[in-house]
Amino acid sequence: MSAAHRPAPGNTASANTPLGNTAPTLATARWPEVEQGPRRLLVVPLGSLEQHGPHLPLDTDTRIAVAVTARACAGRTGVGVAPPIAIGASGEHADFPGTLSIGTEALTHVLVELGRHASLYWPAMLLVNGHGGNVPAINDALKLLREEGRQCHVWHAAIRSGPPAGADMEVAAQEMEFPARRANATRRETPAAVRDTRSPFVVDAHAGRVETSIMLALAPNDVRLEAAVPGETRPITAIMAELRAHGTRRVSPNGVLGDPTGSSAAEGEQLLMQLTAALDKKLTTLTTQGLPPRPS
Ligand SMILES: [Zn+2]
Repeated sequence: MSAAHRPAPGNTASANTPLGNTAPTLATARWPEVEQGPRRLLVVPLGSLEQHGPHLPLDTDTRIAVAVTARACAGRTGVGVAPPIAIGASGEHADFPGTLSIGTEALTHVLVELGRHASLYWPAMLLVNGHGGNVPAINDALKLLREEGRQCHVWHAAIRSGPPAGADMEVAAQEMEFPARRANATRRETPAAVRDTRSPFVVDAHAGRVETSIMLALAPNDVRLEAAVPGETRPITAIMAELRAHGTRRVSPNGVLGDPTGSSAAEGEQLLMQLTAALDKKLTTLTTQGLPPRPS
């Protein structure tokens, strides 16, 4: 779903200003462009670098968060897109070479400091999260940032509205995972989606059909379909205790929690459209309701 050419209501910035006619990518913007632009909302994709089975790249979550962000933010006035945070909390996949994780505590600090700095120039920040293991850090960071009076929000890349045409499974585009294991862990947080057994996250949790289809749509040359085989296919709620105790590799030697069989680029494009529509709705809500004035 394209949001192109839809100005944010109430925004009086000239359409000719650099931020006035498109969502800027901050990485390539110049500071005067940002200073002069309307600056209503900063969007930060949040992903992971973790094993996604033998067939998907390690940065799958990051790519999905970036892609949905780019699609939903296209053409939105005053919406800036930050580079992604590409390493998150993925301790559950630590037994697989290639995974890199900074853990929940460090990620929480990163998000808090990012939110504090972003608030110098943006009235609000939205995290677009593509990895379920990041949820505890996000929740902790947003709680503190909000207590400090900052406008910070999160949107999770999850399919909640049913399967794509032809599929008989409930689908989710976000891992239904559990908090990263920490050597000094004293808390045993469980993401809200995990606690909710009605959540669509309970099926096709990781590197299964949903993520494989989406990656076939986004980057078909980076998907090794010949290596795409089922992993542990029991619902995540049934294996949660084992996952938390021993990590993913003990439960699923190939790293897949789900079954990528039947994945297709066409299905992936449908899923991307659903995700983009959902984020588009969130962006519209945020940019039309109650954002504070732009910091000077
Ligand atoms: Zn993933």
